[in-house]
Amino acid sequence: MEKKDIVSMSFDELSSELKSMGLPAFRAKQIYDWLHKKLVSSFEEMTNISKELIEKLNDNFVIFGCSIEKKLVSSYDNTVKYLFVLPDGEYLECVVMDYKYGHTICVSTQVGCKMGCAFCASGIGGFKRQLAPSEILGQIYAAQRDLGVRISRIVLMGMGEPLDNFDNVMKFLELVSDERGLNIGMRHISLSTSGIVPRIYDLLDRRLQLTLSVSLHAPNDEIRSKIMPVNNKWSVSELLGACRRYADVTSRRISFEYAMMQGVNDSAECAAELAGKLKGILCHVNLIPANEVPEKGHKRSNDTDIEKFKAILEKAGHTVTVRRTLGSDINASCGQLRREKIKEDNLGK
Ligand code: SAH
Ligand code: SF4
Repeated sequence: MEKKDIVSMSFDELSSELKSMGLPAFRAKQIYDWLHKKLVSSFEEMTNISKELIEKLNDNFVIFGCSIEKKLVSSYDNTVKYLFVLPDGEYLECVVMDYKYGHTICVSTQVGCKMGCAFCASGIGGFKRQLAPSEILGQIYAAQRDLGVRISRIVLMGMGEPLDNFDNVMKFLELVSDERGLNIGMRHISLSTSGIVPRIYDLLDRRLQLTLSVSLHAPNDEIRSKIMPVNNKWSVSELLGACRRYADVTSRRISFEYAMMQGVNDSAECAAELAGKLKGILCHVNLIPANEVPEKGHKRSNDTDIEKFKAILEKAGHTVTVRRTLGSDINASCGQLRREKIKEDNLGK
């Protein structure tokens, strides 16, 4: 019999599982508390549970978690980057940022990515597999255990496309916002997507109070299709249509991500075109000086061009920030650490 992934179970699912094993209702509360509040990584650590029951739990369930393979701490700003190894040997990474208002974690939702964006390290080597809800949660639990701090914000901006792992990501959101667990409110969670339009509408149907980030990176189809294959399926106007609807219905501001790459998407014309297309959408634009990825060849825009770009958007009435690059000494952008580790392993073989 295959053991069940207990950390991925909602409280109600766990309750009915345990009930079917003949256990009283209070056990579900105890066990859920150990798993999602006290963050244990084995049943043996559950000190108010008898040996017999621990044995029974071990026979039926497994606690999936992330083991720390490597940890890097930035000497500039306390950003911590973890490389985790999963039970099947896959690698995963996440980053914890220490902001003035608390600790924010950037988690991965897939091993690898199918979307193939031209500038991103996550997709190098293709897609490996989906992450279970417990493996998305496990990154937060492992980091929180290791750092001894409370993580108060989550961004789904690590490796992978969250809306391409829709059901598991929705389950993760349910678990992480459960008041019997970490209890991180939806308003403290951001989900970033490359623009899988039908799934944006599905997300809208859930009426969650999370922040939707959209990786736009170009003002028109010509440029966007060159750097983001997803644009061949859903065009800029379809994507912006979905964003407009999302913002209108939820009254939540969309955050548009725009990675600035020299000579690709950083001209004054691009800024003006973008300013026009975002008109009337409740939004915020985040300009990110692109991280250079050796295999990818793009160059980061220079500061003057970024400032010019920003000024054009602001003049048109948009709110814009230039994201400061955190942990620049530890390769904090998504996919880079895993890429290096895979290279290392291949060399060692
Ligand atoms: N797949 C989702 C979420 C993960 S990527 C998405 O694409 O939105 C998180 C963010 O990092 C995205 O906005 C992505 O476009 C951006 N990104 C990826 N590679 C980058 C790079 N080399 N420089 C700057 N931003 C990058
Ligand atoms: Fe995947 Fe996002 Fe990277 Fe594109 S930017 S390859 S969607 S992780």
